[in-house]
Amino acid sequence: MTRYRIVVLAGDGIGPEVTEQATRVLGAVADRFGWQVELVPQLIGGAAYRATGSALPPDALAAALDCDAVLMGAVGDPLMDGVPREARPEAGLLTLRKRLGVFANLRPVRVRPALATASPLRPEVLHGVDVLIVRELTGGLYYGEPRGRYGNRAVNTLTYDASEIERVARVAFEAAKGRGGLVTSVDKANVLEVSQLWRETVTKIAREYPTVRLDHQLVDTTAMRLIASPSAFDVVLTENMFGDILSDEAAVLAGSLGLLPSASLGEGPGLFEPVHGSAPDIAGKGIANPIGAILSVAMLFRFGLKQAQAAELIEHAIDEIADRGCRTADIARHGERPLSTSEMGDRVTDLVLHAQGALARH
Ligand code: NAD
Repeated sequence: MTRYRIVVLAGDGIGPEVTEQATRVLGAVADRFGWQVELVPQLIGGAAYRATGSALPPDALAAALDCDAVLMGAVGDPLMDGVPREARPEAGLLTLRKRLGVFANLRPVRVRPALATASPLRPEVLHGVDVLIVRELTGGLYYGEPRGRYGNRAVNTLTYDASEIERVARVAFEAAKGRGGLVTSVDKANVLEVSQLWRETVTKIAREYPTVRLDHQLVDTTAMRLIASPSAFDVVLTENMFGDILSDEAAVLAGSLGLLPSASLGEGPGLFEPVHGSAPDIAGKGIANPIGAILSVAMLFRFGLKQAQAAELIEHAIDEIADRGCRTADIARHGERPLSTSEMGDRVTDLVLHAQGALARH
């Protein structure tokens, strides 16, 4: 029997709420395919810090390093804003990414026609939008040394070496080969030496992929074009901080941060998590949108376990959910009763369990 061990790090705020629905869907898919999935819950973030004094306890890290894939909710706790940086919930996640070596973060943004009205942008701008942001995840400004506060002076360091750029560039070009065949590499080469190295290195890697077109763009231009003409993009390749900001901007295209999944990939187990944070403003209300977390499970099946048909089953269920007009509060239409987090989970689980025909093409 096919067996998988998945470490589940629900985290803080809405993390546990959306992760609960995501693991239900994961269980339903496993039932349909006859796989045995062991879910191993572990602590991360503020929840971990309160229980153990560490935002990433050794047990959680050890379990994550020794499993088939890691599913995460979100970290972030406003009550911990005053604690030192190393103890903050976000530090647990940054350490986890670094220790897993997940250098490539894939964030797909696809506008489902039935949900186009959830975006503040005009429907004609959103037509056909299907962007994959490939963000470098374990280097750049968030990790560079030296760093620190020195009274009224503060220092962070932006640094990349060519090998870090090469490996993430290959992920982007490989992805583009199976999609629209265009990589837009984003940098700030008119100002930053690091970006000049980025541009040179990406240009060199592009020669290995003659069927993929490469376009270089400055990050400020990309910020504008992502909103003005998003359908012009296919794969967007960028460094850590630019990718962090551009992927949140791209979330506006989809209509809500709550809809977007991500996969972080390296040599070992992948890390799969929705793009959003712990959303303290809505935590505990049962209204968070679990679709980003559920689509992260689809990415877990596709990239983490190499089970593309299982991924498609979930993605088709979400298409069906969108077409049927099932919406949580963040994307609900005016005057409509929104579904709660668990009601949305019920609908998706039910579709996955009982899907027939096109939905259950396997
Ligand atoms: P956020 O993503 O938590 O929330 C931004 C806005 O989007 C909020 O209005 C929130 O209600 C809404 N939102 C987010 N997810 C939603 C969902 N599933 N359904 C409906 N609405 C949703 O960003 P923030 O408020 O800037 O950060 C809150 C905390 O999360 C901070 O501590 C931050 O550091 C942390 N954070 C963590 C991650 C992560 O775990 N990967 C990512 C981003 C932010």
